[in-house]
Amino acid sequence: MSALKMSALPYRQMIYADYNSTAPVLKSVAEVMQPYLAECFGNPAADYCRLGVVARDALEEARLNLARLLSANGEEVVFLSGGTESCFHALMGAYLARPEKKHIITSAVEHAAVLRTVELLERPPFNCQVTYLAVDRHGVVCLDELAKAILPKTGIVSIMLANNETGVVMPIARIAEVCRQSDIVLHTDAVQAVGKMPVNFRELDVDLLSVSGHKFGAPKGIGALLVRDAALWRPVVVGGGQENGRRGGTPAVALAVGLGQAAVKADVFLRENGEEKSSSVIEAFESCLRKEISGCFINGSGATRLSNTSSVVFGNIIAKQLVENLSSRNIVISAGAACSAAKLDPSHVLRAMGLSDMECMSTARISFGPNATLDEAVSLAKALAEEVNALRNAAKDEVSRRLC
Ligand code: PLP
Repeated sequence: MSALKMSALPYRQMIYADYNSTAPVLKSVAEVMQPYLAECFGNPAADYCRLGVVARDALEEARLNLARLLSANGEEVVFLSGGTESCFHALMGAYLARPEKKHIITSAVEHAAVLRTVELLERPPFNCQVTYLAVDRHGVVCLDELAKAILPKTGIVSIMLANNETGVVMPIARIAEVCRQSDIVLHTDAVQAVGKMPVNFRELDVDLLSVSGHKFGAPKGIGALLVRDAALWRPVVVGGGQENGRRGGTPAVALAVGLGQAAVKADVFLRENGEEKSSSVIEAFESCLRKEISGCFINGSGATRLSNTSSVVFGNIIAKQLVENLSSRNIVISAGAACSAAKLDPSHVLRAMGLSDMECMSTARISFGPNATLDEAVSLAKALAEEVNALRNAAKDEVSRRLC
């Protein structure tokens, strides 16, 4: 769709429930970025001139804003382009710091940002061994498997904080206890958690934590890696030594300023009980859905989940078709993860939870934004019910037609 056509269709007139894919840039984020796109264009390294000093100060303030949201120190924040780059830097950097530790433990339900990177580390010249931890039927990583998987050469454990498809939250603080006993570097991909639930870098007790701005109101193209102990990690991109030597390349000042502002807004949202408000929206949505659609069930309903995410198995329909039908009604949800929505591959996350291929194919993800209302949740559940029932009836008619 062209930008012109899109402008006649602002997302405020849609039901947009695909926030785990991406979120709109917040108005105040766009506003604070504006000066750094034009007149305040200085290079933060050029602090011999006023323009450079202004850019440097803005970058450092953004760093502190993000650090405050995550209960971290500013020096621990490394700005980079987003979640995928952050996960890559985390894993590759941890490997480079201790290349003799050739065993990595991750889970079967990680995002491609982690899975593809560990696959790279499995191949020459790195030749690491990788263990993929299973999850239980609720989608939670099996903790007892972690202890059993640890070898003397285990150097890295990488487990996500919240799953992008199901919203299931992993027991990272308990995983950290195990890692601490065995001199293992722990990375958590917190891309889906940041901004949606409180994330405390200290309390989680992880070494490396990945953040992506576009999931919570900053623009695409900015993210961060939090590094607790520089001795356990090596920079992967060196160049001109920016970001205190941890990520070379002139920093994207305007984007970082946007990320800092999104962090300020997320902090306010979480302090003002935004998470509880989101929970009541998702509860209203799921209870309406259960009432209106027979035989549907919610993935991960027995686990702690993000308060905005619902992964629903409808059974006997193809969710991709459902998503397309809803899109023509200006309602946006997704079937599986955004990255794989174009293919009809059953989701690796749902498969790992023990779902059949048909159950995977009939699963849709609904992920609300921070300002979703109860009315919106109920309207969406009713629209889903109409479309699911229409698809089920069409399938029944098709079977009867073929039997005639
Ligand atoms: N990790 C998780 C859990 C995600 O959901 C995503 C994006 O969907 C990423 C990493 C990648 O983030 P980005 O799009 O910023 O590269």
